Amino acid sequence: MTASDIAVTVLGSGTCVPSLKRSSCSVLLKVGNANLLFDSGPGTMRRLLETGITIFDIPFIFYSHLHPDHTGELVNFLFATKYPDANSRTTPLTIIAGRGFSAFYKKLKNIYGNWIELSQGLVNIIELDNTGPDSIRFDDFAVESLPVEHTDESIAYRINIVGEKSVVYSGDTDFSENLITLAKDADLLICESALPDELKVKGHLTPSLAGEIATRANVRKLVLTHFYPECDQVDIEKQCRKTWSGPLVMAEDLMNIDFT
Ligand SMILES: [Zn+2]
Ligand SMILES: [Zn+2]
Repeated sequence: MTASDIAVTVLGSGTCVPSLKRSSCSVLLKVGNANLLFDSGPGTMRRLLETGITIFDIPFIFYSHLHPDHTGELVNFLFATKYPDANSRTTPLTIIAGRGFSAFYKKLKNIYGNWIELSQGLVNIIELDNTGPDSIRFDDFAVESLPVEHTDESIAYRINIVGEKSVVYSGDTDFSENLITLAKDADLLICESALPDELKVKGHLTPSLAGEIATRANVRKLVLTHFYPECDQVDIEKQCRKTWSGPLVMAEDLMNIDFT
């Protein structure tokens, strides 16, 4: 694994608010031959196609929490793998999420039944602790998680790519000491910044709070995302600069993020 085998693409930089510019939350992290999808809000499958990737090229989905702007495409993702013959899924899909996901998935199956049930062994669910640190290792990368301040099941992820980079995905959160801990010295922090400083709501960050987290965690680069439309009316970058002086990127859909 070398740095050139690693790529980050923002698929959706928005919320559930309908927008032609910003699809709902999803980030793609390519590690060698594996595509790791973080959240799948409505519109994710289409954004994937726009990057040249189909749902069959995704072996891992990580869910930060269960809100529809992060999970809305899951039902369609599963249903679309059941079309006949050449268009059905044959390789396993691993879904990683905070504790509570399995119950959510069971409820979806109670509603949709066979329409979203894949053959035995094709879906593997791994629940991580939603009350404290957890971790799991795969061949080319290791996953660490910590709960964050949003909903009961909300967790943030740190992906440590063996011998290479570390990428942290906040999911949705209010100010979180755990996120600072998880992101310590990371190469990239992809952090929600839902609303401008003056419109702060409980359970979400603002640009200056995201900047404070990045500064205290000493990350190498900060990417702000999960923008409500109000963010496009103000100078988000300027607000973040009150607390963060390092490399800064305002996410846009289909933007590739480099590590420099
Ligand atoms: Zn949420
Ligand atoms: Zn959200």
